[in-house]
Amino acid sequence: MSARILVVDDVPANVKLLEARLSAEYFDVMTASNGTEALAISRRAECDIILLDVMMPDMDGFEVCRRLKTDPATHHIPVVMVTALDSPSDRNRGLEAGADDFLTKPVSDVVLIARVRSLTRLKMMTDELRMRAITSLEIGMQAPERSAVADTGKGGRILLVDDRESSYERLATILAAEHTVDVEPNPTEALFHAAEGNYDLLIVSLDLNNFDGLRLCSQARSLERTRHVPILAIADPENSTRLLRGLEIGVNDYLLRPIDKIELLARARTQIRRRRYTDHLRDNVQNSIEMAITDALTGLHNRRYMESHLATLAEQAATRGKPLALMILDIDYFKSINDNYGHDAGDDVLREFAVRVRKSIRGIDLACRYGGEEFVIVMPETDLHVAGMVAERLRRSIAGEPFAIHKGTKRIEVTISIGLTTLEQKGEAVADVLKRADTALYRAKHDGRNRVVSQAA
Ligand code: GH3
Ligand code: MG
Ligand code: MG
Repeated sequence: MSARILVVDDVPANVKLLEARLSAEYFDVMTASNGTEALAISRRAECDIILLDVMMPDMDGFEVCRRLKTDPATHHIPVVMVTALDSPSDRNRGLEAGADDFLTKPVSDVVLIARVRSLTRLKMMTDELRMRAITSLEIGMQAPERSAVADTGKGGRILLVDDRESSYERLATILAAEHTVDVEPNPTEALFHAAEGNYDLLIVSLDLNNFDGLRLCSQARSLERTRHVPILAIADPENSTRLLRGLEIGVNDYLLRPIDKIELLARARTQIRRRRYTDHLRDNVQNSIEMAITDALTGLHNRRYMESHLATLAEQAATRGKPLALMILDIDYFKSINDNYGHDAGDDVLREFAVRVRKSIRGIDLACRYGGEEFVIVMPETDLHVAGMVAERLRRSIAGEPFAIHKGTKRIEVTISIGLTTLEQKGEAVADVLKRADTALYRAKHDGRNRVVSQAA
């Protein structure tokens, strides 16, 4: 997994050093010698991770970071501040500016590569989600970047796994200033607790008595319910080699004891913001998938979905030797509903029609809007006789109860005609099944409407 790293430093020797180390690990390296150049490169989306020197003339690293993190075009790019200074106030200024991590010069090779690898994984995942979410923007969903930039990262739900009372009491008190915190002192309960609690962040101590905190982290990574919850590890300095293992198995960030209050809060906020952002992206992806297969007016599946899914259902039925019924439903004289009461009234009828259809069919049946006022219902493992009863029940549920239009001020009679058939036992092309159902529908219309006509295969 290669990523393109942008190294920003005003001292050419520093740039060369980082470039050489990263290139040796097969990362693709770009360089910039000042903030303005770095911002331009980032906006052109040419890099995956930014290593940013703090002390630079003109615009310092804090300012560059702040600008990157408040620009919707660049806020998702992980930023690692690199500085010769290692005072807590410096770290905190960087984290307040939105930096994702901090490295102090001289930079240890192992830490550098571990951090860059871990951020690369995160960036790849976010990119994948962003790319898929683009389609949802095209169909008018809200851009998650806006809310992500505005998100303070406060008000999160945190689970703290730590069995040392003196430690968790202090940490919980600090975190409670900005978040809701639950403490789990029993590591064997922690995974269950994490899976049940819908948390925005797990903070895991790696110095647990008789328990490997890393095991917990890796289990949380593989469990569906906790897979996307960020993990912040906490360790004593002598445990720092295990932290590197942690970063490899998916721990997102870490802190060494003694824990600095402001740094803890800043790192928690960063993780929580990221969590909310990726959740939002994931929701958008989910929504756009649903929108792509759903008819907006009725909420039923659309024709495209039905056609692709019908082929699968027909194949299954043929190989398993089970019957498959298919009906086409068409609203009678629908044009005159539009003509007499308006297009909105027609839409009301279509929506209510869909509600009644949903009530009459089983969960495994597939209902879709096939065209304007034409619908298809596919019923797996259903023979012509049973499907005929379902169709008749449907017909009655429409004709038996007038439809409300004009915001409920008027009610009108609506009827439907249904053409019904089944798939041939040995299987056949779905187009032929649809055609037979359509012929049956034509007969139902021709014979006077408001009726079901069945046509055996
Ligand atoms: P028949 O009994 O033979 O089926 O007659 P019909 O009037 O229902 O059939 P026709 O195909 O002549 O008319 C269908 C009408 O459905 C025409 C079209 O304007 C209308 N229609 C299609 N989609 C929509 C929609 O989304 N909303 C509304 N209100 N009307 C629609
Ligand atoms: Mg400098
Ligand atoms: Mg019609």
